Amino acid sequence: VQLDRIEKLKSLVSTHQNFPKPGVTFRNIFPILQDPSAFTDLINLIVEEIKSKPQLPDIIVGLDARGFLIAPIVALRLGIAFVPVRKAGKLPGNVEQVSYKLEYGEDTLEIETGSIKPDQNVVIVDDLIALGGTASAACRLVRKMSATILECISVIELVALNGRRKIDAPVFSVLQY
Ligand code: AMP
Repeated sequence: VQLDRIEKLKSLVSTHQNFPKPGVTFRNIFPILQDPSAFTDLINLIVEEIKSKPQLPDIIVGLDARGFLIAPIVALRLGIAFVPVRKAGKLPGNVEQVSYKLEYGEDTLEIETGSIKPDQNVVIVDDLIALGGTASAACRLVRKMSATILECISVIELVALNGRRKIDAPVFSVLQY
């Protein structure tokens, strides 16, 4: 039954060569969101993964932008808080920052100061792990707030890129390419 659900989800993900730039094979999760039964399966698989662990999180952190489509639903299902990590300049008030290297240049992620308390347990959720730079920066941001990362969860993992090697936390992905 588990494999059926995963095969169904995989069949819905669309693949786009050379998008958004030459050489990139873009994996698009939006068709999953257009199928309520598949979308429910995806959320269930993530919630089951989190509940299978001895320690439950206090907070689900979702990453800008497509992590925002999944993370709040998971948080509601668990009855816990959702906290966004955003690209620089989008969050009001005081923020914590972490910068990370891209293929060309640098990017900065931010989180609202005080949105995570020291000693809280966090699960990070995003749509896709490629090189792992984004998830690894989000981990650094959460650790900067002295919180504990239980797990980093992604809908898709591009395994050949070995992004999980950069991520200093257990990694779980629903679909692998
Ligand atoms: P990375 O930091 O290299 O692991 O890239 C992860 C972030 O970039 C995620 O937030 C994804 O939304 C996006 N991303 C990177 N590569 C792809 C891809 N091939 N298809 C879709 N999204 C991607």
